[in-house]
Amino acid sequence: MTKVHARKIQGALHPALAVVAVLSLLLAPAAQAQRTQLKPGWNLFSPQQDVEIGTQVSADAERQLPMWNNARVDRYLNDLGRRLAEKAPGAKYPYQFKAVNDSAINAFALPGGFLYINRGTMEAADNEAQLAGVMAHEIAHVALRHGTNQASKAYVAQVPLAILGGQLGSGSTGAVLAQVGAGFAVNSLLLKYSRDAERQADALGTQILYDSGYDPRAMAQFFDKIQAESKGGQPPEFFSSHPNPENRTKLVNLEVDRLGGNPRGSHTDSDDFRDIKRYAQSQPAAPQKGQLASAPSTGSGRPQLPSSSVQRFENELVRIEHPENWRAHGQGDAVTFAPAGGIIADGQGNHALAYGMLVNVYEPHRDDNDQDDYYRRLQPEGWGQSGAPALKVAQATDQLIEELRRSNPQMRVIQQHERIWIGGERGLSTVLTNDSPLANTRERNWLVTVLRPEGLLFFVAVAPEREFDSYNRVFEKMFNSARFLGTTSSAPPPIERPDLPSTRVQRFENRLVRIEHPENWRAHGQGDAVTFAPPGGIIADGQGNRDVAYGMIVNLYQPQEQRRDYYQNLQSEDYGQGSAPPAMTVERATDQLIEELRQSNPQLRVIQGRQGIRIGGERGLSTVLTNDSPLANTRERNWLVTVLRPEGLLFFIAVAPEGDFQDYNGAFENMLTSARFVGN
Ligand SMILES: [Zn+2]
Repeated sequence: MTKVHARKIQGALHPALAVVAVLSLLLAPAAQAQRTQLKPGWNLFSPQQDVEIGTQVSADAERQLPMWNNARVDRYLNDLGRRLAEKAPGAKYPYQFKAVNDSAINAFALPGGFLYINRGTMEAADNEAQLAGVMAHEIAHVALRHGTNQASKAYVAQVPLAILGGQLGSGSTGAVLAQVGAGFAVNSLLLKYSRDAERQADALGTQILYDSGYDPRAMAQFFDKIQAESKGGQPPEFFSSHPNPENRTKLVNLEVDRLGGNPRGSHTDSDDFRDIKRYAQSQPAAPQKGQLASAPSTGSGRPQLPSSSVQRFENELVRIEHPENWRAHGQGDAVTFAPAGGIIADGQGNHALAYGMLVNVYEPHRDDNDQDDYYRRLQPEGWGQSGAPALKVAQATDQLIEELRRSNPQMRVIQQHERIWIGGERGLSTVLTNDSPLANTRERNWLVTVLRPEGLLFFVAVAPEREFDSYNRVFEKMFNSARFLGTTSSAPPPIERPDLPSTRVQRFENRLVRIEHPENWRAHGQGDAVTFAPPGGIIADGQGNRDVAYGMIVNLYQPQEQRRDYYQNLQSEDYGQGSAPPAMTVERATDQLIEELRQSNPQLRVIQGRQGIRIGGERGLSTVLTNDSPLANTRERNWLVTVLRPEGLLFFIAVAPEGDFQDYNGAFENMLTSARFVGN
């Protein structure tokens, strides 16, 4: 059926394409006028505010990134980049170009013309035109103001009535950015582009290359090349913020045709490029990510900013979610969460926390006679006489601060106790400053305390004063995620539902399948088994097991070939005696898989038997099941889709709690529709 339809459509298209081809031939001489006209989209900010934002965010970026600071490389990049930027339409920005000492293939641009090019990009480019292509693409994002356009749209979506058209006054850029959470962080709004923005940047980048005298096909060639070289592995970092649009090369070639084809005398390479590439390759290798992440920092370089996806930690007292790029250190009740480089060694075996959060229990003294008297005096006669009064959280907190001051003489309270709620209980928030283990630096300590049966549970969030603002939201999120588990913990803590699936998608590919998943989900796992889940969608049971509550599992199952004698018994005497066992069918393999799944999921039930569906152009089966969810007292729905492939039975299990399934169904359907088979 599908095949017949496809042929019909193709037949209908052919004549139309022929007409277009003839027209473009006729129009070739006037090609300059045919270029795609591109203009920046709607924006709350002025071009001048783009520069202000870029200035602020680039300062953050350069603290977080391993900047190469190589004058010779930066000079080359600026010479090349400014020649390209001159050809960009629209507002003129003060472009600057800097090399990042990172071997990953990536580049990014901040509003107002701050461009960063990874060393890996320079080393991966075959010629100057390819490097110029990446830079022209980034310049196009700046000229088309994609970053602040996205931030503007996000702001209006969150604060719909705050502004009715018009632009923001000066001084308000910071407030808007804070509201939408833009800043320099991976996944930031300013840096992660839609596929539409990508198509625009491709078209304008191609025009810039053309106008600068480079082979205009070089940009798409470079993207194709890095995509092809990563086949089967992790896609280059570049594509995580610049999602590869469909038909990228075709669209670029179309733009080249509109421009009148490859210009006569266009060049692809230069001696300068060959020199700088040789020079880069002769320099000490860029530090590997792993190396940066090991060993406590000696005090130079700042840690990477906290990632927005989280990881759950649990000990006997508390469950808390921390940024995924932080690690939990310590044992027993004391635990420190810190990024790589957040814990500073003083060379004498001491470690001090410069960035991160410490969680511990303090035993306040309640046997002090003076304190009993103190409380008795406060209370009316005849009340509370019978026993020692309950210890107050404020009193215990003061004791703790006194204790901390003994080993931290520079510690000062700058904001006295304020009441807050944490983990459903009343706690206190106190803000202090202290000397940082980083040289000549003051730090801020945000202390949160709560009285628990085990003692005073305290959290100290730590970052240098000047950087505290960039960590504040992360600390807040951590406090909000905290749940108490200790001895008298009553009801099971509420599990927050993950954010709904975003409508923007990200492409994943392994050796078997290519699939698009919501951008706010992540792919976990390795080999053929992969799980796509939002932050919070995978539940740990505290015993090292992890279970999917929201998301999709894709994996391969090897069905058992049926034993020959079994089939022979089923068949009549004179039929099939000499024939091979029947070929494996998707029905039979699916039944085997469900049986297998039931062994580890005794509560699994089929509620809608297998139905034929098409997936990736092949015939598959859809089966709906229910099961116990890893969330307490919750049933979940499992939508199982299976397809028989040369490698085995490829299966997809979409998972969400029964009550939430409706909210996820669309995302699951989109994922299944996007699936394409890559293997044999
Ligand atoms: Zn892009």
